[in-house]
Amino acid sequence: MENQCIYCGIASDLSKSDIIPDALTNAKIINPNVCRIEHNNKFSDLFEGEVIRKLALITNGLDIKSSKSKTYASYSTQINIDGTEYSTKISSETELFRNKKMRSVGGKFLFGPIEEIKKIKVANDKNITQIDVNQIEIEKKVNIDLSVFFSESMYRMMAKIAFEWYCLQNDISGKVEAFEPIIQFITNGIGDDIVKIVGNEELYSTLKVTTNFGSHTLLSYVAKDNSVNILVSLFGIAIYNIKICDSVIDKCRNNVIFQELSLDAKRVQFKFDTFEHFKHDFHNKFTEVELGNGVKAKIPKDMTDVSIQYQFFYGTNFTLFQVDLQCANKPNEKIINLIIKNMEDTLQSSAVTLRGLKRFVKENFNSFDEEIKLNPKGTNKKAVFMFYLLFIVGQSNGAIKDLSDLNKELKDKFSGETIGISDEVICKLNDEIFSTADYSDIILKGAKTIDSWNYE
Ligand SMILES: [Zn+2]
Repeated sequence: MENQCIYCGIASDLSKSDIIPDALTNAKIINPNVCRIEHNNKFSDLFEGEVIRKLALITNGLDIKSSKSKTYASYSTQINIDGTEYSTKISSETELFRNKKMRSVGGKFLFGPIEEIKKIKVANDKNITQIDVNQIEIEKKVNIDLSVFFSESMYRMMAKIAFEWYCLQNDISGKVEAFEPIIQFITNGIGDDIVKIVGNEELYSTLKVTTNFGSHTLLSYVAKDNSVNILVSLFGIAIYNIKICDSVIDKCRNNVIFQELSLDAKRVQFKFDTFEHFKHDFHNKFTEVELGNGVKAKIPKDMTDVSIQYQFFYGTNFTLFQVDLQCANKPNEKIINLIIKNMEDTLQSSAVTLRGLKRFVKENFNSFDEEIKLNPKGTNKKAVFMFYLLFIVGQSNGAIKDLSDLNKELKDKFSGETIGISDEVICKLNDEIFSTADYSDIILKGAKTIDSWNYE
C-alpha cells in the first residue's frame, strides 16, 4: 500500500519531518510519512517556534544549532560593567566586545568599542570613559523563563515527538484510528491529560548516571491499564510522560523501545515487542562464573556491549514507570525546584565535544596572530574551563592529537566525563594558567591545533 500521512491519511506531498526540531538536537531523527504543509511546516508556527526561542539559552550553552541558521541562538541578558547595567541579546559572550554597542538600562550610557563611540557627534573627552575589558569584572545575568516547560506549546511539541517517534519505531505508514486523541491534541490543542511532567527525582538521577550529559532520551512502556506511553527526557532537564493510546494495538508490536540521542549526535537504541522478551534478551547477555568456594557471579558475555547499561536502566525502572512517576500536568513546587536544579546543572557543566571546542576557538580568535589576554577577574566559568582546555592541548606539544586524547587527559585530571565547573575548580585552573609565564602563546598554539582537528 502507498504511504500516507500519519496525521491525516493523505498520500500526496509527503515530507520528512524532523521528529525533534532541528534547532533542539544535533542528532537528526526523521519520520518520512508526514504531509508537507498541514502537518510538518505548520507545526513550526503553531508550537515549535515558541519552544525553540524560549530554550535558546540552553541550546546555546549546549552548542546545539539549527542547520538552517549560521549562528547559535541568541538570548536576552543583563550585563553589569563597572557598576552600570546593560540589557542586550547575544549569542556568544565574545560578541559583547566586538563592534557591538549597548545602551544601558535607563538609556544614560552607551557601551562599545572606543573608535565607534568617538564617532558619535556629542562624544567628547569629558563624557567618554575608557575601560580595559581585560581588567574589570563583568557580571552577566540571565532571566530564565520556566513557564515554557509547562506551556501548551511544549506539551504539544512533546506529544508530536512521542507520536512521530512511536510510529517510526513501529513502521506505521498511514493514519491509525486509535491515535485520534493524540492527533487532535497535537494538531488542535484539544484534549487533556495526554502530556504530563514526571516528578520522581529518583528517575531523573538514575537517568543522569545512565545517559550522557545533555542527551535526549525517549522510551516507551505499557502501563498497568494497558495504555501505551512514551517518556521523553528533554536534555535531562525535564521528563514528560505522553500517552499515545488507550491500549496496545495489533499494528504496533514494539512497545519496549529505548533511544538516547546525545550531543555529539551518537545514538543508542534497543527495541523489543514485550517486556518478557526484553528480560529474556537481557538475561542472555550474562554468563555465570565460578568465583571459588561456591560463590557465583554473573558477568556480561560481551564486555563491549554498551546497550547493557541502558537495558539495566530500563529493567530496574520498569515498575517505577508503571506506578511511581509522580506525574503532574500543572507546575507544583517540587517539579519547579527539580527543573531549576537541572537547568543550573546543565548550564554549569561542560561536555567536551569537538563541535563545542571548534565553536569556542572560532568565537575567541578573530585571527591567529593577535595575542590573547585573559582576564584574571573573569567570572565566566565555562570560558575559563575552555581556555584551560586550549592550554593543555597547547602544552602537550602535539601529544594530544584528537578529542579522544584530550578526553583521556581530562579523565586523569578530573574524575568522570561530565565536569562540574565549581568555583574551586575554576580557581585551580586559573592558578595553573596564570602561573605559566608564556600562557598566551600556549593557548594560541592549542587553539590552532584544535582548529585543525577534523570531525570523524
Ligand atoms: Zn497530514
